[in-house]
Amino acid sequence: MDIQFPKIDGFVPISIPFHEKSANLITANLYAVGKGPIILIDAGPKFPGALDYLEAQLKVAGFGFNDIEKIILTHGHVDHIGLVKNIRKAAKRPIECFLHPDDRLKVSFESFQNNFWGKEEEDFLTRAGSPENVRKKMRDRFSYFKSLADPLKDFSFLKNGDHFSDGDYDLKVIHTPGHSPGSCCFYESNRKILFTGDVIIGHITPNPFVELKKDFLNIPNYQALTIYLDSLEKLKALEPDFVFSGHGKPVKNLSNLISSYLKHYKQRLDLIERVLKKKPGSIYPLLQDIYPNMPEGDLFMAVSDLFAHLEVLISKGRVCLMDTGPPEQYCVT
Ligand SMILES: [Zn+2]
Repeated sequence: MDIQFPKIDGFVPISIPFHEKSANLITANLYAVGKGPIILIDAGPKFPGALDYLEAQLKVAGFGFNDIEKIILTHGHVDHIGLVKNIRKAAKRPIECFLHPDDRLKVSFESFQNNFWGKEEEDFLTRAGSPENVRKKMRDRFSYFKSLADPLKDFSFLKNGDHFSDGDYDLKVIHTPGHSPGSCCFYESNRKILFTGDVIIGHITPNPFVELKKDFLNIPNYQALTIYLDSLEKLKALEPDFVFSGHGKPVKNLSNLISSYLKHYKQRLDLIERVLKKKPGSIYPLLQDIYPNMPEGDLFMAVSDLFAHLEVLISKGRVCLMDTGPPEQYCVT
């Protein structure tokens, strides 16, 4: 799909078309900012041919890998970090790479393998009541995801309020956790551009992923949807002229889109409460009522999404955990 971006001086959008298995994301978007040397926002998935595609797109704009001075990552998911290693290998200069520390386990060479699928993920699905054949399918699915990235050996940390600037651009880091604990947006104040990674996506409502390794986070009592809603409030205060996300088309009106997200989450919370009233029990049997059109491969995401909503409903006193199981059993209060 050809995605149209506005022409802005010192800004190069690169949209890598997505593999069919994840077609709902349409493209993985990377952005080069500056007139050289450039800073690259995100590094795409390691699809076959993706590095060549990136090289060709940079070339059209008059750049090569040697012009990349820094890579800043909106978050640690594979489709955003995938090509860092190969870009570094292709460049004849060192490229410093930055990421928020709360996503470090997702990218680091030491933890990448185990972080992907391990005891925590198996236990999570067991607690949700999903049968062994489903867990097996998810194991296979995650091994495909793992193939989309090479882990990182060295990287530096981003923190909220940091600036990346030269005479031409000034990117400010805004920590916006929820989609992942370390998710960040970058605001380029000269051109009023907000880069949002997966915190804001135009054509789908972003998924606040459950975080199963909370001990490593700097955020106490991390609950994905609760903190994601706080992050949306932070972004609402900005009035960018352009919003460029990690997937699909540019977003036209940020505050309208945020309002539609808030409506969507409210409706989903109400729906879960209604379904649970008729059908108290564990997460897995509820999925078909809440996500009737869910592709099979997205099951882990659906369990994660439902769990994140249940955390909110519990914190509001609308739902309670009546039996820790496994599987965990929920009911309305
Ligand atoms: Zn993501």
